[in-house]
Formats: sequence, structure tokens, C-alpha cells
Amino acid sequence: MSNIENIERLEEFHKQALEELREAVQPDSLEQWRIRYLGSHGEVKALMQRLKDLPPDEKPAFGKRINEIKQELTREFQKAKGRRADVETTARKKSFDMTLPGAPVAIGHKHIITQTIEEIAEIFARMGFTVAYGPEVEDEWHIFDALNMPASHPARDPLDSFYITETVILRSETSNVQIRVMESQDPPVRIISPGRVYRPDTVDATHSFMFHQVEGLYVDEGVSMVDLKTHLDQFCKVYFGHEVATRFRPHFFPFTEPSAEVDISCHLCAGDREDCPICKGTGWIELGGCGMVDPNVLEAVGYDAEKYTGYAFGFGIERMVMRKYNIPDIRLLFENDVRFLRQF
Ligand SMILES: [Zn+2]
Repeated sequence: MSNIENIERLEEFHKQALEELREAVQPDSLEQWRIRYLGSHGEVKALMQRLKDLPPDEKPAFGKRINEIKQELTREFQKAKGRRADVETTARKKSFDMTLPGAPVAIGHKHIITQTIEEIAEIFARMGFTVAYGPEVEDEWHIFDALNMPASHPARDPLDSFYITETVILRSETSNVQIRVMESQDPPVRIISPGRVYRPDTVDATHSFMFHQVEGLYVDEGVSMVDLKTHLDQFCKVYFGHEVATRFRPHFFPFTEPSAEVDISCHLCAGDREDCPICKGTGWIELGGCGMVDPNVLEAVGYDAEKYTGYAFGFGIERMVMRKYNIPDIRLLFENDVRFLRQF
């Protein structure tokens, strides 16, 4: 084959390649074209390999031309690719409907304990209570001594375990907040204090070494047991349901006098079932403790115990949640199993 014929065949090849590129309109066909012509085993490469078999006088012209063709095919391919991208972007823009709802984003929600604390705070807010917080790591004075529990008091024994130093402890009640609030302001005081508390309890279905408590404190002139019973009864009816009854049983706490334990009526059996798994047939479920603030406690914070009286109460928040939603095991609240948590 002469030099002229070889070059003519190159031109023929060039023309055909460009024609096929123009016809490559399907999404995959551009890439197929590139592989066929410009790929590492493509036709341009094959033509270049033929160079070595040509007679020496033909090599320069053929080599020059095949290089030019390769460059032009590459350029044209890039242009075609650019046009394809434009077409696709335009099509995407046209098909975008901004009135369609967006893809849902998986966000979490507040834990049932947090929701309950907020619900309790809201109910008491309607009765004029504000929310107060205090430290979980506390000195003995604010946990025990100011609450009428000196070092020798037997009531301290089951509570004073999680010591940080000789005199600093993880609080076993949120009562330290009551003391701190009374130390910082004069009566009237009307607060609730929700938060974490720590006790040396072995973990089982109803116990945890850490749980949440909400305490309430109301100190003013003329506060009496009637206020205590009325407020707690109102609270229980709003939180648990209006059919719920409350009762107050005499009890002993070092920081209140007189003291009582608060029970609510069993929602499951109303006392009709001896084998009731919740109330064991008594018809009542223990909710927490309460009483009139001991004058010693008022004096410890510098209040005039002749002039002011007050009541205080403390409920376990986990216990309330478990009663309200029939949760059989306290550990479910802390295991962070989302299948459980997302129910609330
Ligand atoms: Zn019952």
C-alpha cells in the first residue's frame, strides 16, 4: 500500500470516528465510543502500532497525521461530554419539583424521663412552683447536717456511700437544692427540684444505683398539712388521671415532722384482686414521702421557725413513669434500646 493510500485510509477512519461520535446520544454510548476509539486497546492505539511496519519514508507523514487525529478525537470527545452534562443538568432542573415533601431526617426525641420532668414542672408551675437545680456532687452539710441528720443519725447509714472525699458525696436526694435555695433567699419559697440521685442499691427490676427524683418545697407564713395534701392530690390527679385517689400514711423522716408516705390507688385492680402484680392486693401503690418541714431544718438555714412553716415532698421519677406506662423493669429506662424508647 502506498503512502497516499495509507493516509487516505486514515482520513476515512477519522471521518467515521467523528460521525459515530455525533450519533452517540444514548447515556452509555459516549463512553462506549471512547473505549472503542481512544481506549488503551482502542483503534487509534492499533493504528499507532501499525507505524512500525510501515516503510521508513512513510512513517513521518503517517505518524504526524495519526497524532493529529488522536488529538482532535480527544478534543471532540471532551466537547461532546460537556454537552451531555449540560443536557443532563437541564433535565434534572426541569424535573425538580420543589413542592414535593423532603426526605425525612431521622432525628431523635427527648427521653421519657426528660419528658416526665418537663410534665411535672408544668403541672407544678400552674400551682406557682418554679424549678430549681443544684449540684449532684455535694458536701455533707447540704445533704445531711442541714436536713437534721447529724453524723451519728441512723437514717444516714443507708444513704452515705458514694464519697468523693471525706466530706464530699454524690447526693442521695435532691434535698440539697432545697437547702441551697433557702440559704440564698427569704420566704416565700415555692420550688420543685428534679434531678439525678445516687444510692448504694443493687440493680434489679425496681432498683438502680442512679435514678431521678423530684422534690418540692413550699415555705411561707401559714403553710399547713392541708396545703400539702391538696397540692399533691391535685398533682396526682393531673399526672396519673382524675380517677386516681391518694392517701397519706404516717411515717418517719428526720427532716419533716409530721411525716407521711403518699400512696396512689392501684389503676390495675382498684384493690379487687389479691394477686394484683402491682399492688399485691392492697389497692395502693407507694409514690414517695412528704411532711411538714422540721423546724430544725428551717433554723439551720436561718429562717424564723416561729413565723414560717413549710412542707416538702420527694417522689421517684422512674417509679412514676413505670406506674403510668406499666413498665415492669426500671432497667429498660437506662439500656438505651431505641425500640423501647421510641414508644414514648
Ligand atoms: Zn392492684
